Amino acid sequence: MLDIQARLSALGYRVDPEEHGEFGPGTEQAVRAFQQHRQLLVDGMIGSHTWEELVEAGFAFGDRVLYLRYPSNRGDDVRTLQRMLNLLGFDAGREDGIFGQRTDRALREFQKNVGLPEDGILGGTTVDALKRLRPVAPGPGRAMVRESEALRRLSATLDGARVAVDAGHGSVDPGAAGPAGTTEGAASYPFAQALCTELSARGANPVILRTAQNDPAVSDRARAANEFGAEVLVAIHFNSDAKPTAEGASTYYYGREGWSSPGGQRLAELIQEELTSRLGLKDGRTHPKALPLLRETRMPAVHVEPCFITNPREEALIQDGSFRSQVAFCLAEAVERFFGRGKPSEGP
Ligand SMILES: [Zn+2]
Repeated sequence: MLDIQARLSALGYRVDPEEHGEFGPGTEQAVRAFQQHRQLLVDGMIGSHTWEELVEAGFAFGDRVLYLRYPSNRGDDVRTLQRMLNLLGFDAGREDGIFGQRTDRALREFQKNVGLPEDGILGGTTVDALKRLRPVAPGPGRAMVRESEALRRLSATLDGARVAVDAGHGSVDPGAAGPAGTTEGAASYPFAQALCTELSARGANPVILRTAQNDPAVSDRARAANEFGAEVLVAIHFNSDAKPTAEGASTYYYGREGWSSPGGQRLAELIQEELTSRLGLKDGRTHPKALPLLRETRMPAVHVEPCFITNPREEALIQDGSFRSQVAFCLAEAVERFFGRGKPSEGP
């Protein structure tokens, strides 16, 4: 607890000194503010993901030597490096704070350009060189523009397209539960199956990232989607709230502090449009979020919550087979439109 409080204070979140060493309301508030600012799920608790984010937030640019290694270096220093390289016109790819091959290539390219040894190591001299050249103008980095351009070139057909479908949660972590006892983990799987059926019928090549029973870690699901070479990813969850009247659909895509995935955002917008216009679900809109699955996958990815499992009426819908088929139709329709077919079709 002392470590958590020390990290929060070091990052500028005020922790009540009276709560020294114990998790009181002031600490919870600081955790919530941290989660809000980092665009995480805000629950006021220190789960493993929030803890990793606290650690990553503690690395400032130049604090440590960075290079391509496995497991990858992760942290805010990596994100700053990616942002600097992108702003200078080198292609470090998405600013996700994970030092991968693309960041390595961009760093070597930068070193070559300024006449430094191309060793791919971010140490003292390269840090200094980057700081000297740091552009003053803010604005979207070139990586974001590049991803938008790639989007325009996307093939105009769903035929054979690899689509990763994640059924949120599972047997280990069932996720949120409704008043009648439905859990996200149990309910998301049949939705994922229905979506795969619908996508296959349209010629796509879908795969679900877990079985009905198991519950792989989020990083393993992300790796599976990357290795499959998925062109898009759709993760299915359900929303929850303390208020049983909370209702409607929301969709999330990867984004944080000045960088968001244009592809993810486009797909999220299409999904929202389909779910709200065809099914009359309340529009909870699209939002950038730094969810681990969205961050660790390399393709446009969305996390969709078609409705609230904690709302008795919507929980009943979740259990209804025809609602499930309709949601699957909407999601598949959005994916197909994402692949270039602009006009919505009839149905469901
Ligand atoms: Zn969930």
